[in-house]
Amino acid sequence: MNMIFKKILICAVCAVSLTGCGKRSISPDNEICSDRNVFAMDTFMTICAYGDNADEALKSAEEKIKYLESIFSVTIEESDIYKINNSHGSTVEISPETAEILVEAVKMCGKTDGALDITLYPVLNSWGFTSDDFRIPDVKEITELLEYVDYSKISVDGIRVTIPDGFQLDLGALAKGYTSDAVADVLRENGVESAVINLGGNVRTLGKKPDGSLWKIAVRDPFDTENDMCVLETGEISVVTSGNYERYFEGDDGQRYWHILDPSDGFPADNGLVSVTVIGESGLYCDALSTALFVMGEDKAVEFWRKNHDFDMILVTDSHEIMYTSGVENSFENLTEMSAEVIDSD
Ligand code: ADP
Ligand code: MG
Repeated sequence: MNMIFKKILICAVCAVSLTGCGKRSISPDNEICSDRNVFAMDTFMTICAYGDNADEALKSAEEKIKYLESIFSVTIEESDIYKINNSHGSTVEISPETAEILVEAVKMCGKTDGALDITLYPVLNSWGFTSDDFRIPDVKEITELLEYVDYSKISVDGIRVTIPDGFQLDLGALAKGYTSDAVADVLRENGVESAVINLGGNVRTLGKKPDGSLWKIAVRDPFDTENDMCVLETGEISVVTSGNYERYFEGDDGQRYWHILDPSDGFPADNGLVSVTVIGESGLYCDALSTALFVMGEDKAVEFWRKNHDFDMILVTDSHEIMYTSGVENSFENLTEMSAEVIDSD
């Protein structure tokens, strides 16, 4: 099939960018910010840390990222996920970190009623999102592959995991969130109290700026990806964005097909949203939710938030409207001409 495809934003300019942290520079409050760039998990990552032990801490953080990539990757042949995906129904022993992320992932799949489903890999594969060999599979092919999609068939018992033959897992929707939390822990253990961890569309801050002031986190405009849509002023937090502009191709039919799929039909989720940003304490939770709420669409996402008040979110609809929850009302600054409406608790 002859297709024009386009892969954009494969650098630090993913969904969320950050103001206020430069390359080993003097910040306005005269504190040195050390930074480190890492390419892992298909993402350009930047970590900025302040304090005397920052360089040492960043080295440990990079090692942690590389280690997590080596166990979570679907393509590295020694990884835990690769072993599970090639187990043909037999039980596999994995590392504690993989067991931990799997337990949390399965919980999030259940909590989101299957909008998130980490067994979608065979379907993602048939669209070419795993290989960049993009194609539009026919409905029959997708229907057959959906037989192998059901997160409730994953069994995790300590470090022992079993999935049915033919099933395959992919942690792409939440691995970076888990990693951002792990990096925050490593930095803290190494004496860092102030840092910004930017893993593409996943930003996690540690503490406040060295002078005690708040960070400014910018969220990309999904309609104008060179520019920012809004700025959030915040202390220690995770801000994670999922958007339909991050990875997509255009088919012969001129349609755009993106990398977040709706597990209910195996097609790119097209429920009225172009970007979802989730703001909360845990990177893993925010990452899992940003993908799941994107799949759910506006109404279900709002309903989900009203039932689970442990996060905030910024939705952008395909009709160019911004909606954000009341928890970020005072820290949210709209930089666009789009209308921005507050979502209330009831
Ligand atoms: P990104 O990785 O681009 O920051 P997300 O966190 O939203 O964005 O994750 C998207 C990735 O998750 C896809 O590339 C794919 O590997 C996987 N994925 C796509 N749709 C789903 C889904 N409904 N449930 C679980 N994983 C998904
Ligand atoms: Mg996600």
